[in-house]
Amino acid sequence: MSCFASRLYVNKPALQIAALVKKGVSMFSAFLIKYAEIGVKGKNRYLFEEALVQQIKYALKRCEGEFKVTRTDGRIYVHALSDFDYEETVDNLKTVFGISGICPVVHVEDEGFEKLAETVVSYVDKVYPDKHMTFKVQARRARKNYPMNSMEINMALGEAVLNAYSEMKVDVHHPDVMLYVEIREKIYIYSIEIPGPGGMPVGSNGKAMLLLSGGIDSPVAGYMIAKRGVKIDAVYFHAPPYTSDRAKQKVVDLAKQVSRYAGPVYLHVINFTDIQLYIYEKCPHEELTIIMRRYMMKIAEMIAKENDCLGLITGESIGQVASQTVQSLAVTNEVCTLPVFRPLIGFDKMEIVEVSEKIGTYETSILPFEDCCTIFVAKHPVTKPNLNVIKRHEQNLTEKIDELVQQAIESDEVVIVKYT
Ligand code: ATP
Ligand code: MG
Repeated sequence: MSCFASRLYVNKPALQIAALVKKGVSMFSAFLIKYAEIGVKGKNRYLFEEALVQQIKYALKRCEGEFKVTRTDGRIYVHALSDFDYEETVDNLKTVFGISGICPVVHVEDEGFEKLAETVVSYVDKVYPDKHMTFKVQARRARKNYPMNSMEINMALGEAVLNAYSEMKVDVHHPDVMLYVEIREKIYIYSIEIPGPGGMPVGSNGKAMLLLSGGIDSPVAGYMIAKRGVKIDAVYFHAPPYTSDRAKQKVVDLAKQVSRYAGPVYLHVINFTDIQLYIYEKCPHEELTIIMRRYMMKIAEMIAKENDCLGLITGESIGQVASQTVQSLAVTNEVCTLPVFRPLIGFDKMEIVEVSEKIGTYETSILPFEDCCTIFVAKHPVTKPNLNVIKRHEQNLTEKIDELVQQAIESDEVVIVKYT
């Protein structure tokens, strides 16, 4: 509770800073990147930090300016090497999973304690126009040859701030503002933590294959699994001429939006038309969707295995449509040997829409282009399919289906999608 409250508080100055920076007060020259360290020990910690640095670099490529990302004493810093756009940089850092907080840092040369005290007093003035608040100074000496120890720095800087602003008070237990001062080669001052997206850096938890359609759900599912550190490849089943190039472009656009968070996405576009037509010709129409979904999963799994993916991801949610009843999911799942991650399984549509609006995929998802599932859909699809019955009807496909699956796999067109 107290942690949440203090985060809300620190966000207010974050907004003020954006306004200050717009006015030309560009005092920040670095960001301290905070990440949750729970469970990140030993070799895992190294992998985690390495993946985080890579993802930070990927996000910064989209920003104006030049940056250097460093990792020292278990801390990650982003240093600006040129002019940069504060808001743009923060917005992009907010897309990097694994970051729990982004602290804008003022960076000064060590020119003696007097000068440091002056800088801290002026920092407080710029960042907190309203001085009615309590504070605490927390110094950290990463460079041990500094002439004062941490306690002495805390006391002396606290005193300097109190002397400058009579409205401010010290509270060492529950301060409104923590003023951090880190003594390194240079001196770093920060007090604001802008919340990051949390999660784990993409690349720290293997790779999985997302079944990406043009709908609302699957991009959200991809986002959620990427948030756990999983790198994403994607597969889209295209049914030309029943689905148009615009429908395909919509999926490419969605992959691009997911790649804003997930890093570059290899999108496999598979021609599914002949399989769909063959099922339509040979199987009962009310079972069409479920049999089609079984073939989608089967093919997705084959492509996943070829590309070192350790699982499949879908946007399914229990009961949303006939093919997502518990019985239908069980029948669909039966063809898979890889684990299938369904992060939206317990979500209502409204909750999914909320996430899709937040991550920016909603507007694209609701564009009205046809989907290969909807074109062949029966009026009354089975809602409680029986696995034995489905398998029996799949026997009707024996003659040509292996060949068609092979052809579908050979039709694989890989589009490398990057958010720019
Ligand atoms: P979405 O909004 O993600 O399209 P949906 O509610 O339309 O989902 P279905 O059409 O039943 O549901 O699809 C369920 C899941 O199957 C999707 O979330 C997606 O993961 C996968 N899927 C459906 N159609 C395709 C397709 N053409 N290509 C790739 N994956 C697909
Ligand atoms: Mg769909």
